Amino acid sequence: MDFNKLYINGKWIDSDSKDTIEVENPADMSIIAKVPRASERDVNAAVEAASEAFEPWRNTPAQERLEYLQKALDDFSSKKQEILDIEVKELGAPTTFAMDAHINGPIKRYENFLKIGKDFKYEEELDRASILKEPVGVVACLTPWNYPLGQVIQKVIPAILTGNTVVLKPSQNTPLSAYFLAESFDKAGLPKGVFNLVTGAGSEVGNIMASHPKVDMVSFTGSTSGGKEVAKLAIDSVKKIALELGGKSANVVLEGADYTMAVQRGLSSTFYNTGQTCAALTRMIVPKDALAEIEQIVIEEAKNFKVGAPSLKDTDVGPLSSKKQFDKVKKYLEIGIEEGAKLILGEVPKSHTEGYYVNPAVFTDVNNSMRIAQEEIFGPVMVIIPYDTVDEAVQIANDSIYGLSGAVFGPQEKAEEVAKRIRTGSIYVNAGRYDALAPFGGYKQSGIGREGGYYGIEEFLETKSFFAKQK
Ligand code: NAD
Repeated sequence: MDFNKLYINGKWIDSDSKDTIEVENPADMSIIAKVPRASERDVNAAVEAASEAFEPWRNTPAQERLEYLQKALDDFSSKKQEILDIEVKELGAPTTFAMDAHINGPIKRYENFLKIGKDFKYEEELDRASILKEPVGVVACLTPWNYPLGQVIQKVIPAILTGNTVVLKPSQNTPLSAYFLAESFDKAGLPKGVFNLVTGAGSEVGNIMASHPKVDMVSFTGSTSGGKEVAKLAIDSVKKIALELGGKSANVVLEGADYTMAVQRGLSSTFYNTGQTCAALTRMIVPKDALAEIEQIVIEEAKNFKVGAPSLKDTDVGPLSSKKQFDKVKKYLEIGIEEGAKLILGEVPKSHTEGYYVNPAVFTDVNNSMRIAQEEIFGPVMVIIPYDTVDEAVQIANDSIYGLSGAVFGPQEKAEEVAKRIRTGSIYVNAGRYDALAPFGGYKQSGIGREGGYYGIEEFLETKSFFAKQK
C-alpha cells in the first residue's frame, strides 16, 4: 500500500504540498509511514469532487449503491490480516484484542448498515403528504485515533449508502487503515468523487473542511474541545452537525450487587485499548460500607491485565498511542496524588524510552469534584468514589459535563430504576451487553446525534414533507 497519496475524484494523486506527517508505532517509537500533509488546494479539490459527484450519486438507485458497498466490503474483508498488522502498528493495540475490536467489530458494523439499508424506507405516507428522506449532500467526516477504523466505518458507510458524498480526514496519528477502505472503494468501481480521502492535521485540514461552503454536513468524532471548535466553524454556514465527543462514564454499584462482576466490567472497559475508549467506565461509584471489599477485588482482578508488546499473544494492555497521550496520562497520575487520592494500583511512569507504556492505575478515596473524577484522562486510570445513599450515587453519576455511557450493578429491579435516572446516551445494567444495532451517542457535552444501526443511517438524511396528493 502506498501511503504517500491522497484519494481524490476516483484517483490516487500526489498532494499539492510536499510536506508529510510521520506515523509512529507507539510500541517502539519507530516511524512506520509518512502521509501527505494535505494543503488547502487538496481539500478544495476533494470537496469539489464530492460536490460534483453528489447529484448523480443521490440519483443512483439505493439498490445499486448497496451493491457498490457490498463489493467494497468483500474486498476489504479479504484483507483483514494486512489491515490488522497496520492497525496494531499505528495504534499499539494488542493483536488479539485488535482483531476483535478494531477489525471484526468495524466489519460487523459495515455489514449491519448494508443489512438495514436493504429494507430502509426512504418514504413514508401520511394522509395528505409523503415524507421523503433525502441525503444531506457533501459530508465532511473527521475521525479520531482511538478506534481508527471503527469511527470511519460508522460515518462513511451510512453516509454513502444513503446517497451522500464524502470527504474523510482520519486522525493524523492513525490515518493508515483508512487507505485500505479507499482502495476497496476504488476496486469496487465506486463512481469518482463519491468518496475522497485527505490526510493532515485538524487545525490545517479539518478546519478547512468544517468551514467549506460546499460542505453540507460535518460529522465529527473526537474530543469535546475539538468538537466545539469544529461546530463553531460549521455553524457559520448552518451546516448539519453531528458530534461524538468525550466521556467520563460512571459505574454505579449498589448494595447487594455482584461486586466481582462490577469490578471486572469496570476494569476491562477502562484498561482494554489502554484506556483510550470514549465510553470507558472510569468512575466506579461504590457504597461506603463496601469500599474496602471492592478495593480488594480490584487489586485481585487487576492482576489479569498483562501489560506488554502488542505483538505478544498474552498482552492485554499495550502502549498509549502517542507521546502526547503518555504525557497527559502521566500528568493526571501526578494530579491525582496531589489532590489527595490514594493510588492502590499502578504508579506514575518514569520515562518512555522504549514505547509509551503505563501500568493500569486505580485511585480510591476520590471525591467527585477532583480533576481526576471530572476530566477525561483517556488512559488506563479508574477512580473509586464512595457514597452513602443511592440518591447521592445518582447525583455523583450525573455530576459531570459528560453523558456518554454508564453502568449500574445491583438487584435487577433497583438497578434498572437507578439506570433510568442517569443522564447518558447508553447505560448497561448487570449482565446487559453491547448491541451494535443500538444507537450510540451522548447527552450533554458528550455530543449531538447518534451513530450505528438504524439511527446512524437516519443521521445522514434530511426530511422533506412532500405535498402532492391530489385529494
Ligand atoms: P481530537 O478532537 O483531537 O480529533 C478528532 C479529529 O478531529 C481528528 O481527525 C482531528 O484532526 C480533527 N480535529 C481536531 N480539532 C479540530 C479542529 N479544531 N478543526 C478541525 N478538525 C479538528 O480527538 P482525538 O484526540 O483524535 O480523539 C480522542 C477523543 O475522541 C476523546 O475525547 C474520545 O472520548 C473521543 N471519542 C469519542 C467517541 C464517541 O463516539 N463519542 C468515540 C471515539 C473517541
